[in-house]
Amino acid sequence: MATTDAALDHPNHRFKALIAHAQAYGFIYPSSEIYDGLQSIYDYGPYGVALKRNLQNFWWQSMTQLHPNIVGIDAAIMMHPTTWQASGHIDGFTDPMVDNKDSKKRYRVDTLVEEYAMQWAAQGQPAQAKALMSEMEAYLETGNLPGLDQLLQTFAIPCPLSKTVNWTPVRQFNLMFSTQVGAQDDATTLYLRPETAQGIFVNFLNVQKTARMKIPFGIAQIGKAFRNEIVARQFTFRMREFEQMEMQFFIQPGTETKWFDYWQTTRTAWYSSLGINPEQINLHPHKQLAHYATAAVDIEYAFPFGFKEVEGIHSRTDFDLRSHADYAKKKLQYFDPDWQRSYIPYVIETSVGLDRLVLMLLSNGLVKTRHPTDATRTYLKLPPPLAPIKAAIFPLVKKDGLAEKALALFHQLKYDCPLIYEETPSIGKRYTRQDLIGTPYCITIDYQTLEDETVTVRERDSMAQHRMPIAAIADYLHTNTSIKSLLARL
Ligand code: ATP
Repeated sequence: MATTDAALDHPNHRFKALIAHAQAYGFIYPSSEIYDGLQSIYDYGPYGVALKRNLQNFWWQSMTQLHPNIVGIDAAIMMHPTTWQASGHIDGFTDPMVDNKDSKKRYRVDTLVEEYAMQWAAQGQPAQAKALMSEMEAYLETGNLPGLDQLLQTFAIPCPLSKTVNWTPVRQFNLMFSTQVGAQDDATTLYLRPETAQGIFVNFLNVQKTARMKIPFGIAQIGKAFRNEIVARQFTFRMREFEQMEMQFFIQPGTETKWFDYWQTTRTAWYSSLGINPEQINLHPHKQLAHYATAAVDIEYAFPFGFKEVEGIHSRTDFDLRSHADYAKKKLQYFDPDWQRSYIPYVIETSVGLDRLVLMLLSNGLVKTRHPTDATRTYLKLPPPLAPIKAAIFPLVKKDGLAEKALALFHQLKYDCPLIYEETPSIGKRYTRQDLIGTPYCITIDYQTLEDETVTVRERDSMAQHRMPIAAIADYLHTNTSIKSLLARL
């Protein structure tokens, strides 16, 4: 029996091993790596993009297909610049930052302080850590930058690099990337969207009218978002270019508590359907809410570096639509046939980071076990419907007609799902290669196949092997690896 090795399970080792695995086996590479990479920007390799697309499809279908009252859009990355005034991003999408004069490094004050507080807590001083955090939160909430300056000095919080407390005053930095569009002397400043949600709000009436939607209804969107994150670490957890999957659910004012609870329950169940153990998920309600919000909760996953947000669910009242209506001087209202009057709908938003979900699945799935024989085995326990390759087809050996038979099966099944066909090296090594990229099934054609038209199916997680008629394989793969099989769990 295999046992999990405690040393291999140490969080730091696990995270380093995860990053190395993602790169070595074609999931995620540093961007422009031949030029030594670009901080906080990553590219997805052949298996990474397949995993990401499968996840996207699952989210998209679970939103739009399972909810007849949710439709999708795909808005442009660049939007009219007034969008970001109305949304509050030009004035408010800032983080307080501070520079260390000795190391010349810039930090987000909240992350700097939080990490210092965590060190105290780890050293058995939880009360002091808590006091530090609550003082910081009070200053952040009121935008008290001199208070933050004072905090860094009073608690002598050092720069992790230079170890000095030689800080510049704390300043606010906007996280949006800007670019110039048009001829140079007549150029307009546009922003790369820092979230996809605003593309939904500005299209609210277009969608409601043209798709004849009745409240309650939702609009879903998947797309890239950009943030000039200063503290860019933890691999793809915090990127400067990333992908969001957002859904705005438009409701009657007064029904926000009911719908907030509905989406919290629905989205939590989505993580269970991915095979994530409920103990690995934490619901973190926000204590400090934006002035317009009535409730907010983060869905957090237990990454090797702690419980961290993968998704936010927010009750946003009519703030966004009302603000766009004011700035655009347009009526963004809905005539409710039940109420016989018009109003600006309230909104419940679900907002999840696709890259963080990929990281969650890799983190959750990378298993290293040690056998009594002392041999280690590594495999990627991805949910079969999300695995980049659903099955690998192998002839036991190349000769005696086995390769032809295996290839014929490959060509028969290739219309159903992504497969790999491989003739070499040894069967054991071929199994290992598939384990490392998370292929749930390996199908081997051997001499018995020539006699009775059966094959061996080897399962990734249990390594169990059983024989099955060739004629049953297509159904078997469909039952176990289709997105439908995941949707059916919801
Ligand atoms: P955080 O507090 O971690 O910065 P946030 O609260 O700013 O996240 P939201 O603005 O609510 O995040 O964005 C919704 C989702 O988008 C997040 O739950 C996360 O999954 C994803 N996301 C946000 N910023 C990034 C980033 N820099 N890199 C990758 N994903 C991100």
